[in-house]
Amino acid sequence: MYCAGCGRISDEPLCPPCDEKVQAGSYARLYDHRCPECRLPCLDSTYRCSWCTEGRISWGGYEGLLARLLALHKSRKDHRLVHYLAKLLVPMMSMMDPGLLVPIPASQGGFRQRGYDQMLLFSMELSRQIGVPTCPVLIQKKGTVGLIKRSMKIKNKRIILLDDIYTTGKTSSDCRKILRETFGINPFVVTIAES
Ligand SMILES: [Zn+2]
Ligand SMILES: [Zn+2]
Repeated sequence: MYCAGCGRISDEPLCPPCDEKVQAGSYARLYDHRCPECRLPCLDSTYRCSWCTEGRISWGGYEGLLARLLALHKSRKDHRLVHYLAKLLVPMMSMMDPGLLVPIPASQGGFRQRGYDQMLLFSMELSRQIGVPTCPVLIQKKGTVGLIKRSMKIKNKRIILLDDIYTTGKTSSDCRKILRETFGINPFVVTIAES
């Protein structure tokens, strides 16, 4: 097998130097400060972080090797890569006390093209690593988010919506809205990267 970063032979999806490059791009490493309320990494500890104010946080910036890994993750089914990406989020997730993971659904076009939903695979792998269940209740059809089922064991649980990249936030806010209106809950949003 080869490192997805440099192409050298590697047992892992990334060789140790390339893994180090990805780790160095995490907000936990880039930001020296910690949020005064929740202790998650933030730019300026005078203010509460985006998790506390908007209920949303990303693991790192959408650039460099991480951006390349996310493109690979979208284009092919690679369990080692899914495992690697999920593992990145484990320390951050452990500070959040999640009760249930809900993957933000792939667009209909993306699903048709690939034949699978990459965020569902990611969420299930993260579930396995942190011991918190995944409940895929959402679906995307013709650019609109809908519910697959109305029954969900979510009472008094902290729901985390998972996505790979945060850009405009349109899909995640649509997902939040539908969960809020149907179940009366306000889910949090966690993304691997933010552009
Ligand atoms: Zn490498
Ligand atoms: Zn905070």
